[in-house]
Amino acid sequence: MKKSNIIVVLLFLIGHFVQAQVPCSYEAIIERMKVHNPNVESELFENEVFTKQFIEQLKTDGQFKGQADFKVPVVLHIFHIGEDGKIDMEQVHSGLKVLNDDFNGRNEGWNTIDLAFDSIKSSIDIEFCLATVDPDGNPTTGVNYYEDEDAFYNEGNVFRYAWDNFKYFNIYMPKYVFGEPSNFTAYAYLPNLNGTENNRDGIFYSSIRWGYGEKSELDEGQDWASVVTHEVGHWLNLQHTFSGGCGVQNDFVDDTPPTLGSGIELSGCNNNDFSCGVKTNGSNFMDYNHDCKKMFTQGQVDRMLAALYHPARIQLWSPENLAETGCAPPPTKTDDLSSNLDVKVFPNPSNQQLHFEISETPARLTFFDMNGKAVLVEKLTTNRTTINTSLLKRGIHFYQINTDSEVLSGKILIQH
Ligand SMILES: [Zn+2]
Repeated sequence: MKKSNIIVVLLFLIGHFVQAQVPCSYEAIIERMKVHNPNVESELFENEVFTKQFIEQLKTDGQFKGQADFKVPVVLHIFHIGEDGKIDMEQVHSGLKVLNDDFNGRNEGWNTIDLAFDSIKSSIDIEFCLATVDPDGNPTTGVNYYEDEDAFYNEGNVFRYAWDNFKYFNIYMPKYVFGEPSNFTAYAYLPNLNGTENNRDGIFYSSIRWGYGEKSELDEGQDWASVVTHEVGHWLNLQHTFSGGCGVQNDFVDDTPPTLGSGIELSGCNNNDFSCGVKTNGSNFMDYNHDCKKMFTQGQVDRMLAALYHPARIQLWSPENLAETGCAPPPTKTDDLSSNLDVKVFPNPSNQQLHFEISETPARLTFFDMNGKAVLVEKLTTNRTTINTSLLKRGIHFYQINTDSEVLSGKILIQH
């Protein structure tokens, strides 16, 4: 190759490289978050301490002892001009299906992972659920459409459309996330309490690459649709597998091989190049190879579990919030419509003692905290029982009563 040609090729590659770092590199995310929060770097450092402790505890316990499955209420804000960019509900569901299938290991590529990485693949039992109740308590499809030319190009203050970030995972869908047609599909925000408090959390996603459908430029089954999984990975505190290059710290995940990263311009699943002396996990959702997206590793899953327990995220999947946003039936109305079980619980709110009068015994009484974690279990053998609630934390709890044939649930407030 002529020297001048080599320079042109190099410039082209560097151009791609620089460009490819723009939308969702760790540095780019920090810069975006810094605009409204100058302390974000130290806060994210504290987040690392929290994450590390959480994962160490997981390793000590040998298995995850917390919540086994999660639901996260989602709201989509779609910006369009007339019909342009106005994706329909079918396409909305198609994109969500990709996301849910990927996270749960139900994606097509799950069973065809390179043997070098098959043993470290992992998934989370999580469902991203379109909200059916809006912040005012009214019914919603979980999808909002806005004729907004600025937002259509992802310009102006798009966050003004946010729904309460503690209660809804907000996904903003301009047609182009960088103002004009480009390779860049999306970007995300990391877990950060300040961002959630100020409704500046969520992901931004180009509507033309969301799922498959009339207004998607993707072909049915094209792995590029799994960029949503990549972005939600960031939203759950994952970095790129190539973050930090061959350095020791790399992406803060132990089991992802260090890599210089495969580029956005590579295609297919035959890109498992060697870098940093090892084989690249090119089919990892957090790689930049958008044509072969198949897996998270166990280490990445552990990190995402920690993120779900972060104060910026933990309220989203609480039973109370799932009921409020319509992603789960209200805890107080479960299975008891045809119940013959008669239960009186008082006083509510409760201080030190809670009295249960129950028409049928024996029964098992279980208290759950806001995170759905069982915190107290009692056996009820007589029709009247007094429970000492002084050991329960202040705040809302849910109880469930199980007899041989009935299940009945309710909610109490502990005040002490
Ligand atoms: Zn990214």
